[in-house]
Amino acid sequence: MKGYIFDLDGTVYLGSRMIEGAADAIRTLRERGDKVVFLTNKPIATRASYAQKLTRMGIPTEIGDVLNSSLIVARYLQRTLKPGQRVYVIGEEPIRQELEAHGVEYTEDAGKADIVVLSWDRSFTYDKLNALYQASLRGAAVIASNPDVTCPLEDGQLPDTGTFIAALESALGKSAVVVAGKPSRIAAEEALQHMGLESTSCFVVGDRLETDVRMANDAGMHSVLVLTGVGTREQAEAGPDRPRTILPSIVKIVDL
Ligand SMILES: [Mg+2]
Repeated sequence: MKGYIFDLDGTVYLGSRMIEGAADAIRTLRERGDKVVFLTNKPIATRASYAQKLTRMGIPTEIGDVLNSSLIVARYLQRTLKPGQRVYVIGEEPIRQELEAHGVEYTEDAGKADIVVLSWDRSFTYDKLNALYQASLRGAAVIASNPDVTCPLEDGQLPDTGTFIAALESALGKSAVVVAGKPSRIAAEEALQHMGLESTSCFVVGDRLETDVRMANDAGMHSVLVLTGVGTREQAEAGPDRPRTILPSIVKIVDL
């Protein structure tokens, strides 16, 4: 049995358009008895909404088959929070819901936080940046949902969580953030645990070298770059994150 960890945007679909043949490829893997899970760094949508979107596009998917960076943060805090530690959240409703669902309570008072969850927040303000900075100066740990500096849209890009991390670290003059999403070890372990397989039995299929491919390589999984999203063959061959396999699209995954 093999495990397949699929990125979503740029790999399975592009915005609202399915990559041609993706549904058939995933059906073939499932019929073979292989395990399939979807792993996205995007923290501003719920796992339920991804499951619905995939199902609507012809890939029947349950919530449990979707892992996102909000879930990884919630599980990480559920495991590591010590009694009495207080969490402050910069982020949108989906990550707050995920924290609540995992029994992670949070305070609205950043001044009392021991841990700050930093996530994509389209209501980010100077006050939030300052709260983050002051908490970090006081020694609060900062856990970020994802490192992505931008998020691709159909007609451009938006600043993502990585820009907030950069702002904080620029003010501090040093690295100060633990990242939960891809390419972190935390994300790889979450996906492996979900599948119950050894890393050497798992493929990570994605379109980004610095997240999908790096996570796979760091965790000893088989990295597969698909050329339907942002990463190119030239970047793959020139850069530090070398995929083990490069495929034109997800369709060819069944032949590996
Ligand atoms: Mg992608």
